Amino acid sequence: MDAGTKNNTLQRIEALPGILAVLPEEPLRDHTTFRIGGPAEFFVTVGTAEGADALIRFAGGCGMPLRFLGFGSNVLAPDEGLRGITAVLAGDFQEIRMDQASGVVKAGAGVSLANLAAATAKEGLAGLAFAGGIPGSVGGGILMNAGAYGGEMKDVLREAEVLIDGTVRTMTAEELQLSYRHSVLMERPGLILSGTFVLQKEDPEKILAEIRELNHRRQEKQPLNYPSAGSAFKRPEGYFAAALIEECGLKGKQVGGAAVSEKHSGFIVNLGGATAADVRELIRVVQETVAEQKGVRLEPEIRIL
Ligand SMILES: Cc1cc2nc3c(=O)[nH]c(=O)nc-3n(C[C@H](O)[C@H](O)[C@H](O)COP(=O)(O)OP(=O)(O)OC[C@H]3O[C@@H](n4cnc5c(N)ncnc54)[C@H](O)[C@@H]3O)c2cc1C
Repeated sequence: MDAGTKNNTLQRIEALPGILAVLPEEPLRDHTTFRIGGPAEFFVTVGTAEGADALIRFAGGCGMPLRFLGFGSNVLAPDEGLRGITAVLAGDFQEIRMDQASGVVKAGAGVSLANLAAATAKEGLAGLAFAGGIPGSVGGGILMNAGAYGGEMKDVLREAEVLIDGTVRTMTAEELQLSYRHSVLMERPGLILSGTFVLQKEDPEKILAEIRELNHRRQEKQPLNYPSAGSAFKRPEGYFAAALIEECGLKGKQVGGAAVSEKHSGFIVNLGGATAADVRELIRVVQETVAEQKGVRLEPEIRIL
């Protein structure tokens, strides 16, 4: 795309309703917890459902690739960047509405899981403490059925509003087919706009103490001092990925700037200057070694864009 066409496209995106910002050639490393990724051709912040719909129609109309990101905490963005539009949700998508009496809480897809856990805890609504240390958004959390310490989105989510083919549909947790790090929206297009949760009444101090305790456990066990995208691999049936990786002598294994964490072998960390190619190669080495030595195929949990 030449500079003139690019500028024209940028202006056309800016003119769509509900668009809060359009940044050309925005480094994805600034929008992913891995701190990896080349430029997004157009990095768009969308503030309303109408805006999301308009953006999807615009991209479809000019045959431009479009993908939505949450907080980029479970993705590996390519070194060469992403052509087309990469969009994130803010504005209306950052709203939380709570009905303390019924325990029903509706949160926009752009709300941080940590903020949602803290806000509901303060209102004396329990059920989201498990999410208090997950660095993702409500949208990404629902898509991935994020979970930790015995809790998962599936346990507390009643329904989600999803934009599918220009229509906002309310999908129940059952329709979303949430299972271990999976939802049906991984296999078909659909933009999660919000999630509605049903929580239980509890003493706020008790819930806040639980969040603090779980965050303390994370600090102890996880390499939070290095950029990463969380657990690199899904838990294989009957095994723990970290234990298998460690038993294969891969703890600390390094490719370029990427390494299997010394603190938690289930994490791949960016020691500084890691590229997406380094991470992909390390994933391959780990998969191959574990398959050879243990006969178990590890599946990445990280979404490779
Ligand atoms: C230090 C660390 C600890 C972590 N601990 C945990 C943990 O304990 N448990 C756990 O489950 N995960 C954990 N993660 C992984 C990650 O935080 C979760 O998977 C989180 O739910 C991802 O949310 P996100 O907003 O960052 O999504 P992103 O990484 O931005 O996106 C993930 C996927 O969701 C899609 N997506 C995002 N928003 C939407 C939307 N609104 N509609 C449709 N699709 C969307 C994206 O296209 C992408 O395919 C951890 C990550 C880190 C870095």
